Amino acid sequence: MLKAPNLSAVDWLTHGFGQRDSVYPSPITTVKQIHSDTVAEAGDGVAEADGLVTQQPGVVVGVRTADCVPVLIVDTQQRAVAAVHAGWRGSARNIVAVAVRELISRYGTRLEDLSAAIGPSIGVCCYEVGSEVARLFQNSTPETNGRLDLAVINERQLREAGVQNVWMAGVCTFCEAQDYFSFRREREQAGRMTSFIGVI
Ligand SMILES: [Zn+2]
Repeated sequence: MLKAPNLSAVDWLTHGFGQRDSVYPSPITTVKQIHSDTVAEAGDGVAEADGLVTQQPGVVVGVRTADCVPVLIVDTQQRAVAAVHAGWRGSARNIVAVAVRELISRYGTRLEDLSAAIGPSIGVCCYEVGSEVARLFQNSTPETNGRLDLAVINERQLREAGVQNVWMAGVCTFCEAQDYFSFRREREQAGRMTSFIGVI
């Protein structure tokens, strides 16, 4: 299990970015992911979303990925958390900013109290995309040429949303085959890693 230093520093928090062999705490609340920008509250009956928030102690929320970007966010004062799944579709819709807005509107979050962590995802080394997809990001990542750096895109979106404390794993799921599933590498055989966060 990969841990983010800035989230590990919060002693009432549990979190982790799953790897191939990870053993997970249970239960973890997840919902069907549909590459949307929908962020729901755990337990509110929403069946499909790509982000979950909660302020309930004991409720651990998670997202499942294999190349897409998992993002975990905590409000260290209101003790609220968010787990976000950001592929290129979610990133094009700035789902991390949606999650930040949900935290603010539901829990009275202040931006300065947020810490975020960006987990392993397919790196710019390995993520070639078609021109239609690249065009969606041409204003946000002028340096990429037919490749997308989804982790950096999400980092910038978090910072533009007002989150200053952002940690990045800097790990490519495609390159690090021994530790991570990769949909691009393994196709239909690819498993999924779960990334989770919750208030103990
Ligand atoms: Zn790579």
